[in-house]
Amino acid sequence: MNSKSYAAQSAAAALAPLDIPRREPGASDVEIEILYCGVCHSDLHQARNEWRNTVYPCVPGHEIVGRVARTGPGVTKFQAGDLAAVGCMVDSCRSCANCEAGQEQYCLSFPTFTYNSEDKRLGGHTYGGYSTDIVVDEAFVLRVPEGMDLAAAAPLLCAGITTYSPLRHWKVGPGQKVGVVGLGGLGHMGVKFARAFGAHVVLFTTSPRKIEDGLRLGAHEVVVSTDGNAMAEHRSSFDFILDAVSAQHDIDAYLNLLNLDGTLTLVGAPEHPLPVSAFNLILPRRNFAGSAIGGIAETQEMLDFCAAHGIGSDIELISIQQINEAWERLLRQDVRYRFVIDMASLK
Ligand code: NAP
Ligand code: ZN
Ligand code: ZN
Repeated sequence: MNSKSYAAQSAAAALAPLDIPRREPGASDVEIEILYCGVCHSDLHQARNEWRNTVYPCVPGHEIVGRVARTGPGVTKFQAGDLAAVGCMVDSCRSCANCEAGQEQYCLSFPTFTYNSEDKRLGGHTYGGYSTDIVVDEAFVLRVPEGMDLAAAAPLLCAGITTYSPLRHWKVGPGQKVGVVGLGGLGHMGVKFARAFGAHVVLFTTSPRKIEDGLRLGAHEVVVSTDGNAMAEHRSSFDFILDAVSAQHDIDAYLNLLNLDGTLTLVGAPEHPLPVSAFNLILPRRNFAGSAIGGIAETQEMLDFCAAHGIGSDIELISIQQINEAWERLLRQDVRYRFVIDMASLK
């Protein structure tokens, strides 16, 4: 069957309509009619080939919420009419040590990502959620808890889990001073989760116009990172910093803020390498780490946590026809704080 989508045909091309193939649901597959899809900065990095591995046509989108249309005969978790969600992965080897540990995002054979991965079922490569429908094995489909605002839930599937997972892994909680760098899609979820986990939260932003929003979203303090004096006041005082910046920036400026054994975890994935001074790691024994999304079980845990605590993304709903303009606004740091596509606009 065919689905309607928006695709990039090259790194320089704007997104434009394209009909794409989707497989007929197999035994354990769920066919989902997509209602909302969040707009991640990774969509833009990928479509513009900033990571040098893009296959065209590229249909981005990995923050998917929709309704189950059909299920294969072996499906047990879903039935037609249910709400369902899909994040950054649609499959993995399921047998390596990392998959067995529920860390499918670190599958030793690489997960099948929702877009731009080899499509082992249909051939070619996978197409993401800027489309009307998607077919995914039920093992990689998430349940959407009752009562959630569906459009505000979509960004949880990437921005949510990518910030929830490292904050949990490094056991962020009461009594800790935690920084979040960059108030975009990921950063605003990082602020909400770090606050919900009980830490003292400091937001770092390059955009003075975002100070009030930072406080409203849950930060106890907001530091404009271009203010050298304000940065110096926080020297060697943080337990943990989550860096969610999408472009080149000075990592040393943030390593400097960590206390003994503090950790700076990068989730942002800029196009070019980021230099780090050896002495900013050596003294006083700091850690520089990275983290990718989260496993399927942890993604479900995060969705359930959000439902229980009334956490959603702050979104601006757009039509698919506004996507190219939205991407330009992302590049100008003009996002409050996630664009979500109303997929009814593509029908
Ligand atoms: P976004 O909404 O565009 O937010 C990025 C924020 O970074 C901006 O709002 C801005 O915050 C800050 N920023 C942008 N340019 C900057 C610059 N030149 N210098 C300093 N700060 C700058 O992006 P996103 O969707 O949250 O994604 C953030 C990054 O995470 C992207 O690189 C994305 O690919 C990556 N990502 C990684 C994973 C993973 O698994 N590790 C998952 C999803 C996304 P202020 O205005 O507050 O400064
Ligand atoms: Zn993403
Ligand atoms: Zn695996």
